[in-house]
Amino acid sequence: MSASGTDNRQANDPGRKKRVVIVGGGTAGWMTASYLVAAFGDRIDVTVVESARIGTVGVGEATFSDIRHFFEFLQLAESDWMPACNATYKLAVRFEDWREPGHHFYHPFEQLGSVDGFPLSDWWLRSPTTSRFDKDCFVLASLCDAGRSPRYLDGKLIDQGFAEQERDETSARSTIVEYQGTQFPYAYHFEAALLAKYLTKYSTQRGVRHISDDVTDVALDEDGFISHVRTAGHGRLDGDLFVDCTGFRALLLNKALGEPFESYQDTLPNDRAVALQVPLDMDREPMRPCTTATAREAGWIWTIPLVSRIGSGYVYASDYTTPEEAERTLRAFIGPAAADVEANHIKMRIGRSRRSWVKNCVAVGLSSGFVEPLESTGIFFIHHAIEQIVKYFPSGRDDHHLRNLYNESIEHVMDGVREFLVLHYVGAKRADNQYWKDTKTRRIPDSLAERIEIWKHKVPDAQTVFPYYHGLPPYSYNCILLGAGGIEVRHSPALDLADDRAALAEFERIRLKAEKLVQELPTQNQYFANMRAGA
Ligand code: FAD
Repeated sequence: MSASGTDNRQANDPGRKKRVVIVGGGTAGWMTASYLVAAFGDRIDVTVVESARIGTVGVGEATFSDIRHFFEFLQLAESDWMPACNATYKLAVRFEDWREPGHHFYHPFEQLGSVDGFPLSDWWLRSPTTSRFDKDCFVLASLCDAGRSPRYLDGKLIDQGFAEQERDETSARSTIVEYQGTQFPYAYHFEAALLAKYLTKYSTQRGVRHISDDVTDVALDEDGFISHVRTAGHGRLDGDLFVDCTGFRALLLNKALGEPFESYQDTLPNDRAVALQVPLDMDREPMRPCTTATAREAGWIWTIPLVSRIGSGYVYASDYTTPEEAERTLRAFIGPAAADVEANHIKMRIGRSRRSWVKNCVAVGLSSGFVEPLESTGIFFIHHAIEQIVKYFPSGRDDHHLRNLYNESIEHVMDGVREFLVLHYVGAKRADNQYWKDTKTRRIPDSLAERIEIWKHKVPDAQTVFPYYHGLPPYSYNCILLGAGGIEVRHSPALDLADDRAALAEFERIRLKAEKLVQELPTQNQYFANMRAGA
């Protein structure tokens, strides 16, 4: 990487439009471009340069329910973008075989209720009505078991204490997901490559410049800021802010600026994946309205139903199995439908850059950091990062306070998610081979070890989970602890002295509501067949 002199006064000139150069056109690059143009319109100048030679990672992705704020911010309706991205609904993550073979439980997009000041999980430990914590406490678990859509055929959303607002072009857009108090009942599955294509059109129609070329050099000025990137066919691209969306390569942040990458591998050893895209006949095969994570010998297999195909992949630790064995395991899991499909083997860099924003370069997406996709956090990290870029958008070069705040928020989100993922492995009852036995003895973050000791006596709440915003509310921790079954959790002693009739009535209310909704709602297949027919 070369150094060049650039006039710093020019970089700080307040009269000139800020030039943002985004290097990389995967999900991260195009989500960033479209969000910036939605936030600032033509008051900034945005260029995306992406290589036609280097591919993207997109494997068919599952998301967090907060992603709806992204589409809302762009003022895109589901009927606009979903059909273009083969998208479906996701009400939960379904965990199979984490406790023992044949067992499953859900982590749904539904807050846990409370009775007399105690969460339902606590009441359930005191007075379990059935053996299914998830079904007793959450309506969505039954909808997942029955394959139901969260919307009726006329588009009406199920009532989950969430009112959808009518919006027009001048309505205030809800952004910054951490300030949203409500839990929307679903997220999406979609094809990441199709979303990037859709957002390319969205962005370029609104003035984003799109260059198809390879960045071959990153030039730094005498202060160590990036002055420009050089491309193979379009010369140099000057900018004020450079966004590194080059994926695991992290060409700008880690390579040119030398920011170190801090690995999480000691606590999260899964470092590879093999993926297959399996055709699906929507008329014949049911589509589950959830992502499935099935525990396997050296990791777990994801199943993501999309319109017309299923995305599936085995995330595994290369210390415990080989790519060939992993591919065989995945093919055996899927069966004959995958026979003619080519496998995509992926190496994963697990951890985060020490700082994601350094000087005038901010990394978004895999270049910033990544953890295995067990709770579908990759696109959530991107969405969170771009919201924070807007929140802390710099005026010039001297905004180190804003950069520091940005870096802290990224650090918290990623470190918090790491704790949550590690809990899945420590908390899984399964210990039937060396891989699963080692999940119980491997080092875990100290703070998590302390929290687990507390949770054995008092189910997780806002006071005892990771203390900074990281996208996962306390109820999520309750789902994993009570679902995976490897850590013995006790109810609060106070509940032995309390009257449990109101709690039992609440379980019954949930059961009846779930029963009614299962009868009324269309299946996910019916809903999307209807949407695609343009009804
Ligand atoms: P990439 O997709 O790698 O894109 C990099 C871009 O940079 C490309 O456009 C490339 O052409 C460009 N580029 C690179 N070098 C140059 C250069 N020199 N010049 C110009 N351009 C260049 N996330 C979820 O939310 N849910 C999931 O279910 C999920 N599953 C995943 C499963 C696996 C196995 C993996 C690895 C990731 C998963 N993720 C998931 C994460 C998600 O795929 C990524 O967060 C997302 O796709 C963003 O990738 P990216 O844009 O950062 O990088």
